[in-house]
Amino acid sequence: MAQGSLYIVSAPSGAGKTSLVRALMERMGGLAFSVSHTTRPMRPGEQDGRDYHFVTVDTFEAMIGAGEFLEHARVFDNYYGTSLAAVQAQLARGEDVFLDIDWQGARQVREQLPEAYGVFILPPSRAALESRLQGRGQDGPEVIARRMRDAVSEAAHYDEYDYLIINDDFDTALNELGAIVTSARLRRPRQAARHAGMLAELLGD
Ligand code: 5GP
Repeated sequence: MAQGSLYIVSAPSGAGKTSLVRALMERMGGLAFSVSHTTRPMRPGEQDGRDYHFVTVDTFEAMIGAGEFLEHARVFDNYYGTSLAAVQAQLARGEDVFLDIDWQGARQVREQLPEAYGVFILPPSRAALESRLQGRGQDGPEVIARRMRDAVSEAAHYDEYDYLIINDDFDTALNELGAIVTSARLRRPRQAARHAGMLAELLGD
């Protein structure tokens, strides 16, 4: 069976990355999401094992020591990391795996797996980003200003990625993300592995 492909998806917070990846999973078969480990507290509505594996700093540091991460980084005030064994198992099953990670993790993955596809998602404007980061209007101006600064510094890394999606209209952005996956699946080596039997029958004498 052909190995799946690896997709690194990064975006500043407020670009709609998580919603896009989730919607694509529902729409397309053969996709898997890599559930990261994190030391940050669980937010309301999140589920351990689905959104993240929520672990303590001690556990996380022990995992670093044991070489269990494909990549790991400190993002803002917490640790985040991708389990190497879990991703390898998903790829070996022929699934296309999505890593929702920041630019620091993306660099580490690209160094080890240069064939990974990097996708960056941006909001259409500064004003749109600001209004998305205002959330439900419960946060003070300094909290929003900090979020804006963090988002803009993540956004500045867009030029390290292979693909750039501007998430203005959600359905358009979703179609574009799907098109990237479809076109990667149609690449000749992958098609040749998938259709080996058919090609042998077609071309045999
Ligand atoms: P949040 O805490 O809002 O869920 O995520 C904060 C940031 O951490 C996002 O940019 C997200 O992509 C990034 N992140 C989530 N999981 C990982 C991971 O396993 N590795 C790295 N490097 N970044 C991650």
